[in-house]
Amino acid sequence: MAQSVAQPTTVTTTAPAKLPVGAIAPWAVFFGILMLALLYFVGAEQGATSVMSGENVHEWVHDARHLLGFPCH
Ligand SMILES: [Zn+2]
Repeated sequence: MAQSVAQPTTVTTTAPAKLPVGAIAPWAVFFGILMLALLYFVGAEQGATSVMSGENVHEWVHDARHLLGFPCH
């Protein structure tokens, strides 16, 4: 009974597609600024640093503030 011998196989690989950094960069900057604004409203929109008068924004993001560990009350 003849034993089967594994034949060498050829593996072809393809290079990963290159990221179009020039096309992604403006969106990355846009969403970065958006996230910084959101982080401001969650973390610092209160008291002396408040942009909007009243407590509405603070109350809307109050749970997120506690979840992220920002000082509150
Ligand atoms: Zn609180």
